Amino acid sequence: MKITAVRSHRLGYDLPETLGYSQQWYARRSAHLVEIETDAGLTGWGECFGPGAVAVGNQTIVEQVIAPLIIGRDPVQREVLWHEVYNLLRDHGQKGMPLQALSGVDIALWDLAGKAAGLSIARLMGARYRDSVPVYGYGMMLRPDRTRLEARFAGEAAAIEAAGFRATKMKVGLGVAEDIRLVEAVRRALKDETRLMVDANHGYHVTQAMAVGRALEDLGVYWFEEPVAPEDLEGYAELRRSLKVNIAGGEAEFTRWGWRRLLEGRCVSIAQPEVCGLGGISEFMKVLTLCQTHFIPVINHVWGSAVSIATNLQLLAAQPPLPGGLFPDEPMLEFDTTHNAFMSDLSLESLQVREQVAATGRVTIPDRPGHGVEPNPDVLAKYRLH
Ligand code: CA
Repeated sequence: MKITAVRSHRLGYDLPETLGYSQQWYARRSAHLVEIETDAGLTGWGECFGPGAVAVGNQTIVEQVIAPLIIGRDPVQREVLWHEVYNLLRDHGQKGMPLQALSGVDIALWDLAGKAAGLSIARLMGARYRDSVPVYGYGMMLRPDRTRLEARFAGEAAAIEAAGFRATKMKVGLGVAEDIRLVEAVRRALKDETRLMVDANHGYHVTQAMAVGRALEDLGVYWFEEPVAPEDLEGYAELRRSLKVNIAGGEAEFTRWGWRRLLEGRCVSIAQPEVCGLGGISEFMKVLTLCQTHFIPVINHVWGSAVSIATNLQLLAAQPPLPGGLFPDEPMLEFDTTHNAFMSDLSLESLQVREQVAATGRVTIPDRPGHGVEPNPDVLAKYRLH
């Protein structure tokens, strides 16, 4: 089998309302898929992390830099191809967009390998540990109109809970005092047994994060996500030593070499690797092994389309229990509850996440060849940006 074509599909549409997190507002939803064709008639699909103009850069790297290196090559040799591409690009970026671009290509190669073998990705690894996972619903994004935000967040939290999610995640980023009030309002709106997580998107310096973290402890928050900048490993370690609340992070970290420092520095109590950014499935499995080496549980960061969800479901299936036992902690699937046509409409065969969550709070992990998602050509044509 040989690779005959590598294509990028950049998709986008205007959201019904402007949403935000601590770093920016956004009014458009976007996604960037990678399609790899072979001479065997099989096609693989991957996804690159990176919205808007970042996807334009990633598309150029996929099509102009990586594609010429891998066209004509055997797609099953994904480890070999990964290292050839990485070694050539190392001098030009060991984090960020080159890795995001390579991630989409690597995921498509794994999808192809699964289809060629007739096995789901988790089975191809010999690692289907579970058939379903709990799902947590994130929403409660910031809005430009800050008046009534507490009431709005409380209403959204209750709606997410009523939809069947047993855990939910909110954004903060308005400043220490206002953020604490916002979390208080959401916690009051939720049942005691519903888990609440808080995501700062690295909007604080360590002193602010310490103050917010103490309040989150008192409110029984399950984790405090990206409290400080990803470069501030010492800040992370200080927070983790000082606070009882779980410190989660890692979505902005790349490759085994970046993760090594995060783990050796004992920076996070919950690791959130992003498969569509850190280097793809090949690299995710190495990072997962590193996390297991340090006995740090992994709860995948998930962003993007149904391709990303399906890929992450395979990787959630492929996690050994840590450390093992009759009732080990389970990982969860992160799921966007805000308007996202690339999750709801993209796939020919729906993952039916919302329907399943409404019944059980969980989602079954597909066992079709590859990651199991085939994008609908009509949906690709409808949202295509180029
Ligand atoms: Ca996050």
